[in-house]
Amino acid sequence: MLNIILFGPPGSGKGTQAENLVEKYNLKHISTGDLLREEKAKETPLGLEAKKFMDQGLLVPDEVVIGMISSKLDEQADKVKGFIFDGFPRTVDQAEALDKLLDFKEITIAQVLALNVSEEELVKRILNRGKTSGRADDMDEATIRQRVTEYENKTAPVADYYGKQNKLIRIPGEGSIELTFNLLVDKISTIK
Ligand code: ADP
Repeated sequence: MLNIILFGPPGSGKGTQAENLVEKYNLKHISTGDLLREEKAKETPLGLEAKKFMDQGLLVPDEVVIGMISSKLDEQADKVKGFIFDGFPRTVDQAEALDKLLDFKEITIAQVLALNVSEEELVKRILNRGKTSGRADDMDEATIRQRVTEYENKTAPVADYYGKQNKLIRIPGEGSIELTFNLLVDKISTIK
């Protein structure tokens, strides 16, 4: 299996690149943001709980997200060539939980590809996306900055977690979509 984590701050292009990579490599895209928005739209108990945090630009509690991922992996692991995780893990506790879930299934993460984008570029991109995404959390600058702060405090340490496993690769993410895609493919092509 080819299992990859796309890592980076909100607005760094993980979702866009994940969609292109899925097409090229025939992988299953697992985006916790998309899954949480589906639950929110269906007004499930999980979705209603998640909404309280998402609308404020805060991370949803680990136990909610980990439970959701665990059931997705159970449904899919036998059927796909690999996974692209997008927006997960977002805390060190989530990373540890993922390692345990994967160990149990005898699956490993090959690479963690981290997109580097400056805060000002992130805010600009997300406000722009907010014009069409319909996402309340994309329309308000204070909420966007809160998401970046959450990223710096809680998510950035996840990079070190994978750095220690020699799986972390940093990639500049401010170029065009094509340029960034090519950089990602170059790295993925080194996986044996
Ligand atoms: P972005 O990367 O642009 O912030 P996402 O769709 O990945 O967009 O996430 C939107 C929101 O969903 C986050 O601000 C957070 O509230 C919640 N969320 C998504 N993934 C996670 C996760 N792994 N852990 C906790 N909260 C999450």
